[in-house]
Amino acid sequence: MQILHPFAGSIQSYTEEISDPNRDRPDHCPQCEAKHPLTGHGFYRRTLVDTAFDGVIRVRRYLCRSCKRTVSLLPEFALPWLRFSVSVSALFLLARLLHGLTLVPAARAASQTGMPYQRGQFWVRRFQKQAPALGLAPAPLAATPGRPLGPAADFVSRALRMLDSIGWIAAHRFLFSQLRAHLLGWPACLAPAGRRITLAAASPTS
Ligand SMILES: [Zn+2]
Repeated sequence: MQILHPFAGSIQSYTEEISDPNRDRPDHCPQCEAKHPLTGHGFYRRTLVDTAFDGVIRVRRYLCRSCKRTVSLLPEFALPWLRFSVSVSALFLLARLLHGLTLVPAARAASQTGMPYQRGQFWVRRFQKQAPALGLAPAPLAATPGRPLGPAADFVSRALRMLDSIGWIAAHRFLFSQLRAHLLGWPACLAPAGRRITLAAASPTS
């Protein structure tokens, strides 16, 4: 299971922070709710493309001694199951859907290190599909005095403006940790909560 790392900040400071397993060790298991601290279980490595970063980051993993399942602490700038960061996806979606750029310039606006525009096309489809729900989900966060959203032409631009006013990473944190929702919508194979659906889980146990 992936949960968010309590750390907020840059990729560089994240890399320094995670070397100590005691620092952010979960004090209970989010899967079986066992009330004991989880055991450090090393790291896994994943690729990450941010606006000016393209490389490998480590993700801290813990093990629950009760249910024997692992929990990984994903930094909040990375999206579950996606190589590209929250910022890159946000910049692409804004450029394409709000400012009307075509695919190639939108991809250029999103990442200095280069991203294939076909990736962006895929995000657009996922985002459009869940924009109506997204526009409503973090409403409590958006209701900040002095930051009116104004009328929006449609669900997509309404959702984009709202995410922009909240901050994309803050919105992702709220959606993922409170609602178990993906900023871009879970792809069908991981719906509804970001876990792979297995045949074993789908068949009756008796
Ligand atoms: Zn557990």
